[in-house]
Amino acid sequence: MQASTTASTAQTLITQAENVLQANVWPELEAVQYHTFNRVMEAFRHHRVGEEHFYSVSGYGHDDLGREVTDRVFAEALQAEAALVRLQLVSGTHALAVALRGLLHPGDTLTVLTGKPYDTMESVFGLRDSYPHSLTAHGVHYVEHSLLEDASIPSQEGYVRLVFSPDEVKSIEQARVVYLQRSRGYSLRKTLTIAELAAIIERVKAINPAAWVLVDNCYGEFIEPNEPTAVGADLMAGSLIKNPGGGIVPTGGYLAGRADCVARAAEILTCPGIGSEGGYTFNLTRTVLQGLFLAPGVVKEALKGMTLAAWVFQALGYTALPAWNSPRGDIIQTLGLGSAEALQTFCRVLQSVSPVNSFLTPVPAEIPGYADAVIMAGGTFIDGSSIELSADAPLRPPYTLFLQGGLSYAHTRYALERLIEQLPSQ
Ligand SMILES: *Cc1c(COP(=O)(O)O)cnc(C)c1O
Repeated sequence: MQASTTASTAQTLITQAENVLQANVWPELEAVQYHTFNRVMEAFRHHRVGEEHFYSVSGYGHDDLGREVTDRVFAEALQAEAALVRLQLVSGTHALAVALRGLLHPGDTLTVLTGKPYDTMESVFGLRDSYPHSLTAHGVHYVEHSLLEDASIPSQEGYVRLVFSPDEVKSIEQARVVYLQRSRGYSLRKTLTIAELAAIIERVKAINPAAWVLVDNCYGEFIEPNEPTAVGADLMAGSLIKNPGGGIVPTGGYLAGRADCVARAAEILTCPGIGSEGGYTFNLTRTVLQGLFLAPGVVKEALKGMTLAAWVFQALGYTALPAWNSPRGDIIQTLGLGSAEALQTFCRVLQSVSPVNSFLTPVPAEIPGYADAVIMAGGTFIDGSSIELSADAPLRPPYTLFLQGGLSYAHTRYALERLIEQLPSQ
């Protein structure tokens, strides 16, 4: 009896949420999808994608027409002059590392303006452990500032400070590269919107027009009508097992931006002399292009699911950032679950409603590149894919869960029905 009452309460809550979201939030998501889809579609037509592009050239991969057209289609779809889309990029971290090493020489200054970077980037920058090929080990000067101010009330979004301190101005003047991380990653800082990125980049360029602005665009693709490269970023990078792979690309990353910046990064990914002109495509070009074609729709489905999660968890008395009706700059929904136990319950239930490995129980574990033990849930078709419905939570106070993805809204709804039944209201 108890369970069925709870189940029908869950249904009622979700129906209520859907009525509100349908009236207030989802029409805007549809509008953004249509906008970004138009750009993707035009890129396919403009670059005359044809069946002949679906075949890979073995060996060096020289003159692989599919690889070349993929770079051009991605560039246009992401509002950039050039792009480098490669299955040889192992992850978003690798794509960003290649970008950084392509732009920086020993003695150069790298100025981060978005505070502590995403966990896996710390090793790349040389902030954690001592790797012989971290940026600092290569003689790059690392300077970190944060324009992201916490809100005084923990349940509210923080804000972005656009007035720079004298120290920040000095670091920007000295910078070869100014680095901006768009998404919050595993932190409680605010995610930058494109308007905020645009404002920061404009001020940076006014202080130092020669500095290259590099944006970590992970989780940000197709969330808003414009990408960072449309508002002054010189280079950006991301992962193909997140938004731009549409949930079907099995591996890889991309870089997009100014042609000279992309070329410098390509020289690091391969070597001087080869740059972007080599690299086998494993007969996956069709999948990569199809993933891009699907991406605007998949991102919208994920966002619809995240707004539902925010609404119902807020209704149950939990904190949700962003709130259901706040602007979004990435596909992540944080839920303040308040205890290690609630995190584990959430992850256990989420795992049990995944299409793959629903019978497994997630346990906290040390993950290479991450500082704290992390519990992860999400039986995804592509291992580690976070455009598929998944949750991660570092086991540290204040016990915030990071929920993301969802290839279809129906899946997130299905999961939430069961999650609500297992997590008591606060
Ligand atoms: C996912 C992500 C990365 C890169 O992570 P990978 O797992 O290496 O793809 C970097 N920065 C942010 C903000 C991210 O969300």
